[in-house]
Amino acid sequence: MDSVMERRDYIRIEQLSKVYRGRDGQAVHALQNIDCTIREGSFVTVVGPSGCGKSTLLRILAGLLDYSTGRVAMDGQPILGTRRDVGMVFQSSILLPWRTILDNVMLPAEVLGLDLRKAKVRAFELLEMVRLQGFEHKLPTQLSGGMQQRASIARALLHDPKVLLMDEPFGALDAMTREQMNLELQRIWQMSGKTIVLITHSIPEAIFLGDYVFVMTARPGSLARIIPVDLPRARSLDVMGAPQFVEAARQIRELFNHSASFD
Ligand code: ADP
Ligand code: MG
Repeated sequence: MDSVMERRDYIRIEQLSKVYRGRDGQAVHALQNIDCTIREGSFVTVVGPSGCGKSTLLRILAGLLDYSTGRVAMDGQPILGTRRDVGMVFQSSILLPWRTILDNVMLPAEVLGLDLRKAKVRAFELLEMVRLQGFEHKLPTQLSGGMQQRASIARALLHDPKVLLMDEPFGALDAMTREQMNLELQRIWQMSGKTIVLITHSIPEAIFLGDYVFVMTARPGSLARIIPVDLPRARSLDVMGAPQFVEAARQIRELFNHSASFD
């Protein structure tokens, strides 16, 4: 596999700031002067204190939210709204309870007006990739939380986006299921070649999955540090005991403690 280092930048963020205006007119400075680039095909994870602007950043990248100052570009074009080259996965599975798993995965095809026959072939392939073959005609409530999130990932990939944005996708799962999902997601990423930006509360999850861990400061969120994780792929859960893993976790905790003192 070619090195991530040789790939082009897919996302460029320059001097990005976001100020929310509350209804009372009060300003909430959510993001301040974020500068970073994300290479095509890389896996970036984002950690930071609660309320530091992680979801705000992701919603801006998804084109769901406008920003106050700075520049944000994807594939060389400024982000002006939602884009076809982006898929999004949220914390709680937002599958429609009355539709089967297959029909949920097919939803973007209906919304985006894709060729339904081709989309259906792809939906079956994706459901196989996330290991849900045989569950196509079940309803979401007949699946476990982890399976529902795998269906959400399949749905986010249906229109073959270049970028997958994930906002604490495994936050609602128990620890064991979560570790299995981390292994699954690594496999899906390696198979699909997508660029992934994943927000998490879990420092081990961030290090396990990331080529780079973006560590944010407390609000207004800025980038405290970018920590490269050079551990070889495919990583097994044992990697969590490796000296480099432990050292990265220590660095991140230290940044958190430092950040909290400004709260
Ligand atoms: P995180 O995902 O890191 O927990 P968020 O991006 O959700 O943080 O929020 C960052 C800050 O912006 C928080 O202080 C939050 O209360 C505030 N915020 C988020 N959305 C809005 C909004 N629509 N209006 C005003 N303030 C908001
Ligand atoms: Mg959030």
